[in-house]
Amino acid sequence: MSAYSGRHRPRYRQLLADIKEGQVDAVVVWHLDRLHRQPKELEEFFEVVDAAGLTELASVTGDTDLGTHDGRFMARIMGAVSRKESDDKSRRLRRKHLELAQAGKVSGGGTRPFGYEADRLTIRPSEARILSEAATRVLAGETLRSVCVDLEERGVHSVTGRTWAVTVLRTTLMSGRISGRREHQGEIVGPAEWPAIISPEQSDRLRALLGEPTRRTTRSARRYLLASMVYCHRCGEKLVSRPRADGRRRYVCAKGPGLAGCGSTTIVADELEALVVAGVLHRLDTPDLAATLRGEPADDHEDAAVENTIRTAEAQLDELADAYAQRRITMREWIKARDGIERTLTDARRQVNRRSGLAAVEPWLGQANLLRSQWADLPLSRQRAIVAYVLDRVTIGPARRGLNRFDPARVTPTWKA
Ligand SMILES: [Zn+2]
Repeated sequence: MSAYSGRHRPRYRQLLADIKEGQVDAVVVWHLDRLHRQPKELEEFFEVVDAAGLTELASVTGDTDLGTHDGRFMARIMGAVSRKESDDKSRRLRRKHLELAQAGKVSGGGTRPFGYEADRLTIRPSEARILSEAATRVLAGETLRSVCVDLEERGVHSVTGRTWAVTVLRTTLMSGRISGRREHQGEIVGPAEWPAIISPEQSDRLRALLGEPTRRTTRSARRYLLASMVYCHRCGEKLVSRPRADGRRRYVCAKGPGLAGCGSTTIVADELEALVVAGVLHRLDTPDLAATLRGEPADDHEDAAVENTIRTAEAQLDELADAYAQRRITMREWIKARDGIERTLTDARRQVNRRSGLAAVEPWLGQANLLRSQWADLPLSRQRAIVAYVLDRVTIGPARRGLNRFDPARVTPTWKA
C-alpha cells in the first residue's frame, strides 16, 4: 500500500520489523515518496535502518545511499517536495469540488441522471413523474422491490435502458439531486442550480428511511401478510410461516433445533389473514381511530429535529471511524462511543418510520370501504404497512378438540393504541 493513501500500512510495519530483525539486505522502491509521506516516517525509517546496519535503498529515480549524510539529505528534500506537491494538489482539488458544491453547480460526467436531460439541468417530465410516484409509494410503505417489479411490468427502464434494480432505485431515491439539492461527499450542502422533482422534506424522509440497515435487503417480498405478528398462546413465541406438504399456507409454532417454539399451535394462513384484515379495515373505519391518527400532528419542527438528530449522529459515526482509521482512538474506544450513537440513530429512524407508517394509512382514513375495494390489488408490502400501523400482534389460542374447521374464537388481536 502506497504511503500516498495516508492510511495505516500493516505491510510497511512488517517491513520495518523485518529490517529490525536483520532479514533485509536492501529496500527497493519505485520512488521515495511511495515509501514515506511524512518526514517523521522518514526519520523513523532512518533510525530502524541505522540500528540494523542497512545502507542500501534503491529506486528507479536513483539510488539513495542511506549510509551518507548527502544521501539522507536528498531523501529528506525529496520527501518534503513530494509531500508539498501532493498536499497542494489534493487541497486544490478539494477546494474546487467544494466550491462547485456550495454553488450548487452540476458536477460529474457519464450517464445522465434519471429524471433529467443530458445537460443535467432540464427536467424530463416523463421520468420525473415516475420518480415522484416511486417516492410517494416507498414513503407509503411499499418496498423498493415491489416498485421495481411494477416499473418492469410497465416497461419503464433506467437511463441505461435496463430494468430497475433495487440498488439503483434506492440510490436514485436517496440522492439529494432529485430534490434540487447539491450533495458533496454524501452530504447535502445546499440548493442546486437545477429544479427539484420531489420536495426536500420527502427527500429527507426517504434518506432516513432507506438509509436504515434493516431495509438494505434485496430479498423478495414476503408472502405472509402477518409474518412476525402472530404469537403462540402457550409459549409466547412468534409463529413462523410454514406451508403444509400440499402447499396450504400456515403459521406454525415451530419446535426443533434453533427454534424456540413449543410445537403445539398451528393455524391456516388464508382464513387467519382474511379475519385480521377484516378487523384492520373495521378498525380504520372507527371514528375514534381516524381522529387519533389525524390528530397526530405532522409537526414540521419535530420532523426537522429528528432529521437533524439523524444527520448529527451519522456525522459523529463518520468522525469516529476517521479517528479510528488515524489511530487517534482504539478499537475499544470506538465501539464504546459508537454504541451510544447508534442507539440514538435507531430511535430517530424509528420515529421517521412511524411517520411513514401514518403515510401508509392516511389516504384511506375514514374511507375503509374504498380501502376494502382496493385491498386485494395493493402490494403485500403496502398491506403489511397498513396492518402493522393498527395491529400490534395476534395471539393464537388452543384448537378445540374435534373441530375441523377454522375457528375465529382462537384469534385474539392486540391493537395499537
Ligand atoms: Zn408455542
